[in-house]
Amino acid sequence: MDNYDFTKQPSLLIQGAMDTETAYLIEHLEEHVCITIGNWKFHTGFLGTKREAVIISKTFQGIVNAAAATSLALAYFKPWAVINQGIGGGHDKKFHRGDIVLGEKVIPMGAVAYAFSKEGAGIDAKGFSPLPVEIFCRETGKTKKVTEYPCDIRLLQVAEQVETKYHTGRGVIGSGDEWNSQIDRIALLRERYHTVVEDMESAATAQLCLSYGVPFLGVRILSNSIVNAEKFDEAVGIDGQKFILSLVEQMREYM
Ligand code: SAH
Repeated sequence: MDNYDFTKQPSLLIQGAMDTETAYLIEHLEEHVCITIGNWKFHTGFLGTKREAVIISKTFQGIVNAAAATSLALAYFKPWAVINQGIGGGHDKKFHRGDIVLGEKVIPMGAVAYAFSKEGAGIDAKGFSPLPVEIFCRETGKTKKVTEYPCDIRLLQVAEQVETKYHTGRGVIGSGDEWNSQIDRIALLRERYHTVVEDMESAATAQLCLSYGVPFLGVRILSNSIVNAEKFDEAVGIDGQKFILSLVEQMREYM
């Protein structure tokens, strides 16, 4: 497949922010070619026995980095779908460290509007409502405002059918440049948005995929769960990648 053109032929973009979320997949690439665009590296190649054409992208941490890496990849490679995956922090006691959340949708937790309060009134951490985010919709050529981003239902169903040793379940992903440790705030996020896990990248990717009309799936393996007093261990990112490898391997049976 020496002449496979990743800019013209179909490929699946798989993102992770850190080495612990990307290195295992990169090691498993056949015919690995690394393309640098700006500050980001994109690893093209073929994964699994079905030789699925993929691009592995290490986005770096946080919303802006993820947005930049996604934007470059969508324009340059035009992937048929994007999976944003990696580690995350649990909000739901039912999910423990090492469990995997298959995204139903992504909530941009940082997009909030605070209600007015007068000088000296103090700070009300609950006095916010979702701030709708403007999306330029490529399909209609118009903008619209949204407060959440969908995950592709077909990709989600396929991910649910993957035969795996990991405990997986559907859930809402909360995403923003935030690391929540206040149990009452996490309870509030769960009450308002039903979040099961939080991360710092998937909102960026999901927003841009909605804008471009490209199918998106968020997948997060819990590296910590403050609600279950389970401390941070980034090594679970490797298990997350192993699950993604199984997903890529089994994907074609279901799609
Ligand atoms: N301090 C280490 C690890 C940072 S973990 C370092 O900087 O190398 C932060 C990354 O893991 C982010 O990319 C985010 O998506 C994810 N993450 C894991 N647990 C999280 C949590 N509880 N809240 C927010 N992001 C979390």
